[in-house]
Amino acid sequence: MKTVPFWTEDYPRPATLPVSDLPAQVDVAIIGSGYTGLNAAIVLCQAGATVAVLDQATIGWGASSRNGGMLNPGLKAEQPLLFKRYGPQMGRALWAWSQAAIDHVEALVAREQLACDFGRHGQAVLAYKPSHFAHFKEEIAWFARELGYHDQVLVGADALQQEIGSASYYGALIDPNAAGLHPAKYVFGLATVAGRLGAKLVENAAVVQLRREKNRFQLTTTQGVLHATEVCVATNGYTTNLAPTIRRGVFSAGSYIITTEPLSPALQATLSPHGRMFYDSKHFLNYFRLTPDGRMLFGGRHNLSAQLDLRESAHLLQKRMIEVFPSLADVPISHSWTGKLGLTFDLMPHSGRTVGDRMHGVYYAYGYAGHGVAVASLVGKELGEVILGRRVENIFARLPQRRYFFTPYERFYLPFVSAWFRFLDLVA
Ligand SMILES: Cc1cc2nc3c(=O)[nH]c(=O)nc-3n(C[C@H](O)[C@H](O)[C@H](O)COP(=O)(O)OP(=O)(O)OC[C@H]3O[C@@H](n4cnc5c(N)ncnc54)[C@H](O)[C@@H]3O)c2cc1C
Repeated sequence: MKTVPFWTEDYPRPATLPVSDLPAQVDVAIIGSGYTGLNAAIVLCQAGATVAVLDQATIGWGASSRNGGMLNPGLKAEQPLLFKRYGPQMGRALWAWSQAAIDHVEALVAREQLACDFGRHGQAVLAYKPSHFAHFKEEIAWFARELGYHDQVLVGADALQQEIGSASYYGALIDPNAAGLHPAKYVFGLATVAGRLGAKLVENAAVVQLRREKNRFQLTTTQGVLHATEVCVATNGYTTNLAPTIRRGVFSAGSYIITTEPLSPALQATLSPHGRMFYDSKHFLNYFRLTPDGRMLFGGRHNLSAQLDLRESAHLLQKRMIEVFPSLADVPISHSWTGKLGLTFDLMPHSGRTVGDRMHGVYYAYGYAGHGVAVASLVGKELGEVILGRRVENIFARLPQRRYFFTPYERFYLPFVSAWFRFLDLVA
């Protein structure tokens, strides 16, 4: 078993990627080269801005090349909760926005001909307990009533074999509008487009200090110094303390994935007849799907730490995978890896421009909570448009956000949150 992401081994960073040395001065410096940063860079470059995209590692190294590749309608926080919290008007706007995020990726992939295995395979949310299936019934009625959304289909346990070759669940909620893609092909495709449009893609350039000067910023990096009129922090789960206001808003948690060796076409068709994106209804949920080359990809965690041993996490994930799919008991695991999610305390994305401290005026976006393939892509594009003055703000800039002095110390509070989630999974 290899302890590296399957995706980048399957599709390594192209040798032809147009990477650059650190420029001295640009209009916009983007810190972080994932979906957020690269979508912003594409829009900015199209408008003629000079842009540098900096990454502490190689381009696309973060979550954007190591995720499950699922594009799910909605956000992490459940829609009825969004209605309660922000009111029906904003609740409806957020739902529409989440669908627009998938449409954005689909349109971008088509426009730029990004060969990243994008497909609207649909998703199946799987009921882990009978009470969860009862909740699905309420949910589907709520979506029809409040959102006029009639696309979801409820599948009871008796018909579940049409959706999944597993006897572990009590039913499923199908949404045909979800999609899947190959994360590494997508992120390297975006980088190729940004580079072609003139963005300077700078690798191994960790920004270690950010300083506001009169009309510009100075970025001290491990490759030298760069000046920029505007700065955009697009580091999500890998955010450090460069701009304290930003770090007080986002914390990181680990997510873990294994893949099997490729399965026979017959077994693939039994386990996932429609190639759905699957996730279950637990707090510590498992998410899984077939990869384009026919492996079972199985992800999740039982602990929010980003420091788990990859062999131990592979063992736990494999055990759970075999409970779900006993026929995979003898299939070898090919890869085990991890990456960091960016989370906020209200489980909402946030995006805007810092105000009021020594790092006033820094653009940022983060907090996609496991929905970032689609959400980070559209947030990044819209952040680029905000910087260009083409739009006033992103929808998430209208949401209040609490920032706490203790947010950066997640290693102290995540064990308690993990224990709470495990307790909820036992009782709820
Ligand atoms: C294991 C896993 C599975 C996931 N599965 C899914 C899924 O199936 N569907 C879904 O929608 N979402 C999923 N996500 C979430 C999704 O991958 C992320 O939300 C999304 O990729 C975030 O993109 P980003 O560009 O904001 O950040 P990232 O892609 O994480 O990029 C941030 C970059 O910033 C760089 N950086 C940080 N600090 C500095 C610095 N000081 N200087 C220079 N560079 C710096 C990092 O090196 C990194 O490359 C998953 C995440 C993980 C980890």
